Amino acid sequence: MSASTKIAQVASNRRDAVDPRHCLQSTPKNLMINGRWTAAKSGEALDAINPSTGEIIATVAAGGAADVDAAVIAARAALDRPNWSGISPHERTRYLLKIADLVERDAEELAFIESLNNGMPLMHARRSVVNVVDTFRYCAGWSTKIFGDTNPSAADLFSFTLREPIGVCGQIIPWNAPLVMAAWKIAPALACGNTTILKPAEQTPLSALRLGALILEAGLPEGVVNIVTGFGATAGAAIAEHPDIDKVAFTGSTAIGKRILSQSTGNLKRVTLELGGKSPNIIFADANLDEAIPASAAAFCYHAGQVCMAGTRIFVQEQIYDQVLDALKARLAAIKVGDPFDAETTMGPLISQTQFDRVKSYIDLGEQGGACRHSVQMASRDGGFFMAPTLFSDVRNDMRIAREEIFGPVAAVIPFKNENDAVLQGNDTSYGLAAAVWTQDIRRAHRTARALKAGTVWVNTYYAVDSAVPFGGYKQSGIGREMGSHSIEMYTQSKSIFVKL
Ligand code: NAP
Ligand code: MG
Repeated sequence: MSASTKIAQVASNRRDAVDPRHCLQSTPKNLMINGRWTAAKSGEALDAINPSTGEIIATVAAGGAADVDAAVIAARAALDRPNWSGISPHERTRYLLKIADLVERDAEELAFIESLNNGMPLMHARRSVVNVVDTFRYCAGWSTKIFGDTNPSAADLFSFTLREPIGVCGQIIPWNAPLVMAAWKIAPALACGNTTILKPAEQTPLSALRLGALILEAGLPEGVVNIVTGFGATAGAAIAEHPDIDKVAFTGSTAIGKRILSQSTGNLKRVTLELGGKSPNIIFADANLDEAIPASAAAFCYHAGQVCMAGTRIFVQEQIYDQVLDALKARLAAIKVGDPFDAETTMGPLISQTQFDRVKSYIDLGEQGGACRHSVQMASRDGGFFMAPTLFSDVRNDMRIAREEIFGPVAAVIPFKNENDAVLQGNDTSYGLAAAVWTQDIRRAHRTARALKAGTVWVNTYYAVDSAVPFGGYKQSGIGREMGSHSIEMYTQSKSIFVKL
């Protein structure tokens, strides 16, 4: 039975058993430091909101620099303790598999919390939990497969290389895929024997705290994983600046990523960054439009467009431009915006009022700049931060709506003449996270995939990701790669040893 089938089955068994109030009550609200749940030293707290209603659903500790200090002391001590650094790789595998099993056991509760706090439709949250389980299991396999090298050496020397953990890792994540981001950070760090301090986004602390409880239940030694919920400017900055953190792994906006990079120079931390995007989605005249149209609508509307790799610049070959624009508009009309817990819903709300205002300001900007707006009519809803999908035609690639990451269900549809023009316009961006090409011509598909400057290129599909495949950005979309063997490289360092014979 595949992981997803099994989870679906477990979920359907438990679905009726999930009591929303109990789910929230049983989720920790404090910081997880050194294996214990503790309030912030300052006593400060932050509110977690349900973006479908705007209501406060929980209040959690807002950790600051003093709490980060305590977490770093715990993580540093845990790093060298025999019950972590002294265990065999097989034992690390068992810990990761145990976490995966517990996530699978509580899949429905985790999905529920994720939908409630983040607003993603429950069916998407369930898929996220499958991804989390796969990620822990995939990384579990790596612990026993981290090899060093035997090096060429002189006759009187023996040289070999060990791959060792980097040490104490600070991991800062965004709100758009809270649980998946937590897993992508924690699982490879643990597989390689590191210890970690995770800071979830202020908007979405709950699923990470719930995951933390499962990590403790799995029996991980105290201090190996610490979770400090809090604000970026305080807890986040304290992690980036901390002199005793060896590596910072950040996922979030390019603007904050740049700040993290400069904050981390004090002790020359290793820094990996997974940042924003403005991905080109290129539809050639010979594309199979039955596949390209629904996928291109989903490419910018999935999770209300709050996805780093969203396909927000849709380039369409000029002879099919009008046809594709009409087909996309028809497709958008079928999107059901609404309550994430309604089985019919395909798009939930934006994360916050701030994000709503920001997306709205870009829509205004597009109209003021002379682009033609095509918005879906949406039933008005009270309280939540719901926004209708919007396309812009008559967009020039130099307009702000075509250059800046909007992070909402908004895309620009831009014509191109030929392959060369598509690649030139597609690459005319400071980002380089992802790109897609739709064509039936296999040679053109390969040529354009090579020519596009992006960390992931899809041919005749969109959004395929896999924990076994590296993910990350060209240009200002990031530094380094996550998942696949690249994660293991990013969470280890090599030590060369010479022995005189
Ligand atoms: P963000 O504002 O950059 O925040 C990301 C994280 O950084 C949050 O935990 C935030 O804390 C923290 N932070 C803020 N200021 C900080 C500082 N001065 N020092 C240290 N940490 C700080 O991003 P977001 O709005 O949460 O998420 C959306 C962005 O993430 C988009 O740009 C999207 O493209 C990107 N993203 C990229 C990927 C990828 O894999 N490439 C994946 C998902 C999302 P607060 O929550 O308190 O602000
Ligand atoms: Mg933020």
